Amino acid sequence: MTEILVVGAGFAGAVTARELAEAGFGVRVVDARDHVGGNAYDAPDPHGVLLHRYGPHIFHTNSDRVLAWLSRFTGWRPYEHRVLASVDGMLVPVPINRTTINRLYGLDLDEAGVARHLEAVRRPVERPANSEELLLATIGPDLCDRLFRGYSRKQWGRELSELGPQVAGRIPVRTGDDDRYFTDTHQCMPADGYTAMFRRILDHPRIRLELATRFDPAHDGGRWAHVVYTGPIDGFFGQRFGPLPYRSLRFETEHHPDREFALPVATVNHPNAHAYTRITEFKHMTGQRCRGTTLVREYPTADGPPFYPVPNAQSEQLYLRYRALADALPEVSFVGRLAEYRYYNMDQVVAAALRTAGRIVARLAPAGR
Ligand code: FAD
Repeated sequence: MTEILVVGAGFAGAVTARELAEAGFGVRVVDARDHVGGNAYDAPDPHGVLLHRYGPHIFHTNSDRVLAWLSRFTGWRPYEHRVLASVDGMLVPVPINRTTINRLYGLDLDEAGVARHLEAVRRPVERPANSEELLLATIGPDLCDRLFRGYSRKQWGRELSELGPQVAGRIPVRTGDDDRYFTDTHQCMPADGYTAMFRRILDHPRIRLELATRFDPAHDGGRWAHVVYTGPIDGFFGQRFGPLPYRSLRFETEHHPDREFALPVATVNHPNAHAYTRITEFKHMTGQRCRGTTLVREYPTADGPPFYPVPNAQSEQLYLRYRALADALPEVSFVGRLAEYRYYNMDQVVAAALRTAGRIVARLAPAGR
């Protein structure tokens, strides 16, 4: 049986491994961590409250195919994410909507009034070159300063002007009352959590899973029919052109034994005050009912596990140099958020993994059967 090595047991690795196993290949999956799920891993804290170990993960997608594929391994609980920002002593919805504008400025505008307000304050630019220009062009300087400038400084360790326009472009601006963070067709959470879903995806007689096992590209690559690599692309090549920039997070937890809930919504952003960016109360999203609740504060850091690729022109140039090396290795597939250095959501990683598995099967199947 042809054997394929999959490096990483997150979405990219687990989905590819399952597809390859079902296509008849033997698959060895290794992950340096002692658990499956990659950054989507969840586990109960010492008080029994289910937490996402690497920050809040909300599943949302417009892809019926991705949802159908994952639904083979999990049921779902409906969940629509809502976020408030703490600004000048007020809690206001994010993304910006009618309530945000009215509350921040003490107004009572209808939808058309909010559109007129934004039109009056925005500083139009024909083609915004960075996130600052994009925000000034859509919401003007005051909203940009109160809701985004400080948050971005903390989150990215960079000014808005140093980030590509796509970073701020991820957050819509609304004139109506919709206060959902996402508007995708499907918004839900795995009924038994992410880790349970990953265990089922990887539970296949042709998949051999080895946790706490680091793959070293310099030594471990040669003996496989194919390697699927889902770790950081610069790491695969020994960072020979220099390290790609990533942002990481440090988490601080605070347990409240006597409260069922402590926040009005799952996430409260703190754009300006404090060193942390946001506080999350996971029980809102997991649907867990239990005594006590746990809050998690996120402190962005430059060091630590790579969580966020930094989206700007400089890092894209460096990534493209590594990408050229990757393209010259047909026996290795690079897939996922770190291997493709893309700010992918989970559903995008699943879609990319399904495409990658399809390509590998088409290439190796005649020899593998
Ligand atoms: P990862 O999950 O990073 O998995 C890669 C795995 O490879 C890791 O487990 C790592 O240990 C392993 N690995 C790397 N190198 C090696 C090696 N040399 N040897 C062995 N193992 C190795 N997406 C959403 O859709 N909704 C959200 O709400 C959301 N929130 C997020 C919040 C945070 C704080 C972060 C960081 C991400 C969020 N995402 C969210 C994105 C989501 O986490 C990713 O899209 C997805 O988890 C990426 O999966 P992956 O398999 O590509 O990478």
